[in-house]
Amino acid sequence: MSDDSLDFATLGLSAPILSALKDVGYEQPSPIQAQSIPLLLEGESILGVAQTGTGKTAAFALPLLNRLDPSINSPQIIVLAPTRELAIQVAEAFKSYSKYLPEFSVLPIYGGQDMRGQLRSLKRGVQVIVGTPGRVLDHLKRKSLDLSAIRAVVLDEADEMLRMGFIDDVEEILSNAPGDCQYALFSATMPPAIKRVAEQYLKGAKEVRIATKTSTVERISQHVLMVDNSHKLDALTRVLEVETFDGMIIFVRTKSATVELAEKLQARGYAAEALNGDQTQKIREQTIDRLKKGLLDIVIATDVAARGLDVERISLVMNYDIPYDTESYVHRIGRTGRAGREGKAILFAAPKERRLLRDIERATKQALTPYETPSAEQISINRIQQFQDNLLSTLENQDFSRIKDVVLKFAEERELSLEDVASALAFQLQMEQPLFPILRELPKHDKDFRRDGDRKPRRRERGERGERGGRGRDDVAMQCYRIEVGRKHHVSPGDIVGAIANEAGIESRNIGHIAIHENFSLVDLPSGMPGEVLQHLQKVRVKQQQMKLKPDTRGSKGGSGGRGRGSNSDRRPSRKPKPRS
Ligand code: AMP
Repeated sequence: MSDDSLDFATLGLSAPILSALKDVGYEQPSPIQAQSIPLLLEGESILGVAQTGTGKTAAFALPLLNRLDPSINSPQIIVLAPTRELAIQVAEAFKSYSKYLPEFSVLPIYGGQDMRGQLRSLKRGVQVIVGTPGRVLDHLKRKSLDLSAIRAVVLDEADEMLRMGFIDDVEEILSNAPGDCQYALFSATMPPAIKRVAEQYLKGAKEVRIATKTSTVERISQHVLMVDNSHKLDALTRVLEVETFDGMIIFVRTKSATVELAEKLQARGYAAEALNGDQTQKIREQTIDRLKKGLLDIVIATDVAARGLDVERISLVMNYDIPYDTESYVHRIGRTGRAGREGKAILFAAPKERRLLRDIERATKQALTPYETPSAEQISINRIQQFQDNLLSTLENQDFSRIKDVVLKFAEERELSLEDVASALAFQLQMEQPLFPILRELPKHDKDFRRDGDRKPRRRERGERGERGGRGRDDVAMQCYRIEVGRKHHVSPGDIVGAIANEAGIESRNIGHIAIHENFSLVDLPSGMPGEVLQHLQKVRVKQQQMKLKPDTRGSKGGSGGRGRGSNSDRRPSRKPKPRS
């Protein structure tokens, strides 16, 4: 965890950027930010070993924005990202951090997006480009993108770009950037191909990584629930229904999130309050006091505000937003299991954040138990139990002889059984919180986050895809599909993976073998894809050609242009000879 006294202003960022940070509600730099920002501000290149969730986007975006020359209206920063989603996300981050920079412009460019719109925007002039390698290269070839004024190049999720077969494109783009550029390369792992790129382009770069200390956290059972960002609130409300807890602390990343989540929980009837660094000391003390006395059950806090919090009642810690590093995780869960009590910690993590989970297990020397999002049946059991408890308490504690007369008279006059009358009353009572709720299905994620393994960089890493086989990396059954884009269209495996991953939302590791033929290509994809996805993929364009994806009737094993090892005939020619490993 970063040092207490550190804030963004002490890192040397300019006033407009600090104002924007105030608006987004960041309280303190994350460890990767604290290390990267001063170096990038000084013009150094960096090699960051950091995964999603560590705050790496701001780690490069903030200092590079700080160094931008507002008087130059052509691309000064280029960020390469593996997927359309990441490119959009990074461009959005640049937009929010540049809120108070006059006339600032950023453009995301990625495949599948209308080319004319991109060309128009590029003509008008933009200062920051965030793009996927294939489309950036297309623009370079068309001469619609000029890199001559580029001062900084960022490779975001470099290992993912490698895995998706983009490494040749990345290197070609790098060779087009001015020689004296500043570089920032972020990668969760450092496979040989990435190291090679780093050695060639990032000479003298400073390495930035977060050290992992081990700490024991006995008496705290640790769980992880795999959930997308957009479903976290839904998952949280379900967890709150089935968990029995005394006091609880929910960790989020920003001050604004503490307030928003507290309001949402209050609206659902929970005694919840926000705790953040914007509040006065007095307000914070009052909140903690109320939590101690049991006047309040849930506190939603940022790391900074909860530092040193010692309340014995806290029996559950929810990591709603994933912590930046293992140290911060250990600190957070240490808010429970106080004074020799048992504690429980639940962590929400998106599939992309798997890597931190393994770091946490290593750091705490304890396994994280997968936690299933509570189902409608579980919630139903809990609600019925609660309903019965309330009923029993009323039976024991209330005198309702006069009401009883009303009920008996009502049943007698209408010749109704008391059973029916009681059921009708129960039905009315549960209307607001149905005993048999109908809940929307949340997307299921592979619970076993370890399965992803420490994916070893594959030897076939220059644009190659996996061996032919019947299963994807997530052990899903595969089927062969044909697309009407081939060698004559100059398509590369990276283009195909990029288009399918982006348009169908299929994780790149579940896109199997790709065989590029003269007029068409064959690609192994998970079998049983929904009809609408297949329909959509027919229209998606790669290299200006509609894919017209359809199941390959000849079977996936056919074709002479297999891309297994040794089938060099299909391999994209390397731009330059590479050292043998
Ligand atoms: P990243 O690792 O760049 O994908 O960032 C993950 C999330 O952390 C994003 O939602 C950011 O908005 C958020 N974030 C990044 N830096 C900070 C910070 N210093 N304080 C609070 N939230 C942050």
